[in-house]
Amino acid sequence: SSAPAPIIATLFPGDGIGPEIAESVKQVFQAAEVPIEWEEHYVGDQIDPRTQSFLTWESLESVRRNRVGLKGPMATPVGKGHRSLNLTLRKELNLYANVRPCYSLPGYKTRYDNVNLITIRENTEGEYSGLEHQVVRGVVESLKIITRQASLRVAEYAFHYAKTHGRERVSAIHKANIMQKTDGLFLKCCREVAEKYPEITYEEVVIDNCCMMLVKNPALFDVLVMPNLYGDIISDLCAGLVGGLGLTPSCNIGEAGIALAEAVHGSAPDIAGKNLANPTALLLSAVTMLRHLELYDKAERIQDAILNTIAEGKYRTADLGGSSSTTDFTKAICGHL
Ligand code: NAD
Repeated sequence: SSAPAPIIATLFPGDGIGPEIAESVKQVFQAAEVPIEWEEHYVGDQIDPRTQSFLTWESLESVRRNRVGLKGPMATPVGKGHRSLNLTLRKELNLYANVRPCYSLPGYKTRYDNVNLITIRENTEGEYSGLEHQVVRGVVESLKIITRQASLRVAEYAFHYAKTHGRERVSAIHKANIMQKTDGLFLKCCREVAEKYPEITYEEVVIDNCCMMLVKNPALFDVLVMPNLYGDIISDLCAGLVGGLGLTPSCNIGEAGIALAEAVHGSAPDIAGKNLANPTALLLSAVTMLRHLELYDKAERIQDAILNTIAEGKYRTADLGGSSSTTDFTKAICGHL
């Protein structure tokens, strides 16, 4: 009778393969006795005027209240008059940092077997501010916005992450030699924060050089923090180093300590409803959520069970060269728990 109250977390199963891989997460969490109770929300079939999107106000309130959630892939409906689902989530919940752990999966052979890095992408401004216009015919302008506030916020998160996750180094990725004002300010903010973390080594790496170093020897990096556009590209590059988007977890960090974990891949309409989807990315995203909640034991146990199942090679989904269904792969993971 004195069992601690469960933690309530929001779950967006999402579209396409979303519900199938979300079911896999629910089963694995149950098998691992994770003290989480899911509050499920689906994307609506009409526009909610309060959010101007197909996401309901109630579902956003659920994340704000619980401060933690897991999101499956969502297919943004086409047509005018509404905001994209991911944009709505980012704006409404102020999701300012996108964090992607990227590590080699033992037993799943790729070009490298020693990758273990984290990309942290500023998620609200930079080139993605959506401020583009035509100056005169044949000349257009796009504004790249960098603010002290957003740069300090993401730098602070990166160093905090490094410190709390036993990481030793933070690399700020930039092009300040050309973008002197914008990337210059980003670096200045990173340096300011670095001073507060003398135990963490801080370095600055120019983006082009960073790309070359990553493909030659990704083990050179630990935690990378970047403005929006560089982060978009580098985080996908890093996913490619370890086997692709189907395996890559991510977590979005918002103001007031909100964490919304999500797989990086889309809704995979070509295989939806066929029990073929690989739930690994969503499962590993759920693991980042557990770490955010400081449920480290559960996080390690579940991550080990996933990695062991893949390494064993007996049960793998088709995208990893196997012939297992989503449900059989999930059962195998539960067996490893
Ligand atoms: P996608 O990631 O859905 O699919 C690309 C390819 O990868 C497909 O062949 C698919 O079968 C495969 N794939 C993806 N995830 C897989 C998994 N877990 N297991 C096995 N195979 C997997 O990309 P897309 O086809 O460009 O997009 C489809 C829809 O998803 C679009 O509506 C798009 O807007 C949406 N989308 C959503 C998000 C998100 O919610 N974060 C991200 C990307 C795309």
